[in-house]
Amino acid sequence: MDRERKRNVGNRYLIIVLSLGFIFGCKDDVKPEVEEIVEFIEEPKEVFEFGFNVDDYVVKKDTIRRGDSFGEILERNNIGYPTIFNIAEKAKDTFDIRRLQVGKPYTLLCSKDSLETPKCFIYQPNLEEYVVINFQDSIHAYTSRKPITYIEKTATGIINNNISETLQEQGLSPRLAYKMADDIYAWTIDFRRLQKGDRFKVIYTDKFIDDTIYTGVHNIKAAYFEHNKEPFYAFEFVTDSTKGIVDYFSEDAKNLRRAFLKAPVKFSRISSRYNLKRRIAVYGFKLRPHRGTDFAAPIGTPIMATANGTVIDSKRRGGNGNYVKIRHNATYETQYLHMKKRKSKVGDFVKQGDVIGWVGMTGNTGGPHVCYRFWKNGKEVDPFKQKLPEAKPISDSLKVEFLKFIEPIKTQLDNIHFLEDVFEEQNQPEHKLKQTENLISLNH
Ligand SMILES: [Zn+2]
Repeated sequence: MDRERKRNVGNRYLIIVLSLGFIFGCKDDVKPEVEEIVEFIEEPKEVFEFGFNVDDYVVKKDTIRRGDSFGEILERNNIGYPTIFNIAEKAKDTFDIRRLQVGKPYTLLCSKDSLETPKCFIYQPNLEEYVVINFQDSIHAYTSRKPITYIEKTATGIINNNISETLQEQGLSPRLAYKMADDIYAWTIDFRRLQKGDRFKVIYTDKFIDDTIYTGVHNIKAAYFEHNKEPFYAFEFVTDSTKGIVDYFSEDAKNLRRAFLKAPVKFSRISSRYNLKRRIAVYGFKLRPHRGTDFAAPIGTPIMATANGTVIDSKRRGGNGNYVKIRHNATYETQYLHMKKRKSKVGDFVKQGDVIGWVGMTGNTGGPHVCYRFWKNGKEVDPFKQKLPEAKPISDSLKVEFLKFIEPIKTQLDNIHFLEDVFEEQNQPEHKLKQTENLISLNH
């Protein structure tokens, strides 16, 4: 309804007056004359907010302050307690007035007379939603949402140093990098080791509330990443709409996600790799094979299960300290050592990404880290040397649908040109390829 009203606001009436002068050739020295007067006559502009014509009210905006309550706000605005109690009582099925949070904005619509009596209380718990408690006639309350706009955009970039810098130079959101690095290509491309000259194209949507408030990159629809001259396509595809399962697949329908996460902790650094020939100075350079991969992270950092599975061990023992071991299937098990605290017990079923404990220094360790052990057929192996199984592959029946679905998107992606290529083809630097913008949906 908000939207419908908005469209009617500020309609413009276009009046074009054309007056043709002498017809060409009548007089030698008089040129044909076409005069165009274009005039816009605007209706008096009506402004609607929260579905109300703000012109009908005295609008008072403020934020909930410490010590404020619904009652006090209304009382400050000359409403008596019996009425306040009545309003709160009738509104409580929709909104419990005790849920007002300090710092959140609210609006009072008041009568336009000298009394400025509040008629309506509007509270915004977040950017999208608002709660209206209307008491101008009968008392009623409802929750509504501001219209949301998604704008599809495309971007390209060439890596010089790192991806964040490439995005920053173009004024693009760093979230594009996180999404590509963590959600899409986490298993195929190591974003910490990108090469100079690696390049990408991406089709994504930006989200706006009320057409004006930018809330960031909403999602990536498709991407193309050229790493070491090798192309990696990624297409977002819903494999289960009821469960809301969305994954990224390559152009030949392979799941880009692997059954295992690359690391059990986010934002960590590998402090020691799997190395059977490791020699350590403090042990007199004796051979001390390292059968795990150490991820250094601050104490208390959540440790995640790298794949779905069942916890088969959770205890504190010797040099391992606090540890958890998970069986994923007949072939694979993973183990996580030196935890400060464990969060899972034997028999628990855990999903990929679930927190199973926190980084610590228990057992034999010189600093806070998680020693990640990767077991294949009962042997500890280097997970970085394994060709890990892909996550749930696309079903055969869905594959046909997928290939049809991505066809136009792939064409769209292929038709996006890199700036340097455009320069080379046209050799005119002033010709700039603009980012495209398409309005794809309104009022979700
Ligand atoms: Zn280790």
